[in-house]
Amino acid sequence: MRKLKIKMKKDLLLISVSVLFRVGLRYVSNDYVKLITCCLKYKSLGKEHTGEHVLMGCLQRIKGSLKVRKVEFSEGTGSVIVEVDSLNFNELAEAQVMANRVISEGRVVKEHFFNSLEDAQKTFPSLRAHEERIKGRVRVVEIDGFDYSACSGEHVGNTRECGIILVTHVSKSGGEYRIDFEVGEKALETAVRLSTLCLSVSSILGSPIRNLEKTVINMRMENEDMKRRLSAATEQLVNNILSKTVLGEVEFHKGLLKGVDTRTVMKTVGELISRSRSIYVIGMEWFGVCNILVGSSDGRVKAAELVRGVCKAFNGKGGGDEKIAVGSLPCGGIGEALEEAEKRVRNALTK
Ligand SMILES: [Zn+2]
Repeated sequence: MRKLKIKMKKDLLLISVSVLFRVGLRYVSNDYVKLITCCLKYKSLGKEHTGEHVLMGCLQRIKGSLKVRKVEFSEGTGSVIVEVDSLNFNELAEAQVMANRVISEGRVVKEHFFNSLEDAQKTFPSLRAHEERIKGRVRVVEIDGFDYSACSGEHVGNTRECGIILVTHVSKSGGEYRIDFEVGEKALETAVRLSTLCLSVSSILGSPIRNLEKTVINMRMENEDMKRRLSAATEQLVNNILSKTVLGEVEFHKGLLKGVDTRTVMKTVGELISRSRSIYVIGMEWFGVCNILVGSSDGRVKAAELVRGVCKAFNGKGGGDEKIAVGSLPCGGIGEALEEAEKRVRNALTK
């Protein structure tokens, strides 16, 4: 059947080419051009399909049982959606080693036909099949003595034609895993690229490859800890080092803070203005980046309007809502911008 299909495709290509020459290139319609381009582009996805059978056969042995829900292929690559209770990187590595061994063994790919799925399952108890989709006659693809799967796709005649197989991505959604893989030359190129990437990352981090995971986990934990420390220090600065003036019934706080976390400043000011009627004007400076933040729980001072006005006067821009707003501006003007903001606050409060 497979041979017949290939023969039909070759014949179609020959007919198309002969038509092209007979009618002459000048008169060839777009349809013929499309047809010929399509035939020339045509490549069997047999090695991708066969690779998928081998890989799933290996995973099935490692996990005991699994269900393949969907497969997709394009040249050199494939994706499988598989239902399995759990799947970790070690199991995937084991499956890939096994799959590449099976591929290199050069196992013959055979096909069998049965009148029903039940008949097929009786002959091959480990058969993988998408039961819901199968009705009537069943075609079983066998990787000689290793794997049995109900499939109507096109396959290679011998596993060695797959070259190598490599898993390139895994993701989980609900109880299903999506496994992306590559076969043949594409897989080899990716393997080299990923190995080079590993060497490069190891050199950047100054950590040998065997310690790479541990190093990255430590860095991530350290980073989380630093963020928490910065956040705590920022909160303390906002609470303690701003100057405080009482303007009638309103507390006015102002100051310039260096190296603080903008988000924590916003959060802290948000909490402070909700506790008492107050206005905050805070400048934030870090390595040439300057921001101005205004927080107000007094209806006469609208934060967004004030920030927009001040930023505009100092070649910056910003926005927010009536209570909290942030803008950015060139650092040269930050001191003056804070003075200007204070002036506008005082004006608004005397109205
Ligand atoms: Zn198949």
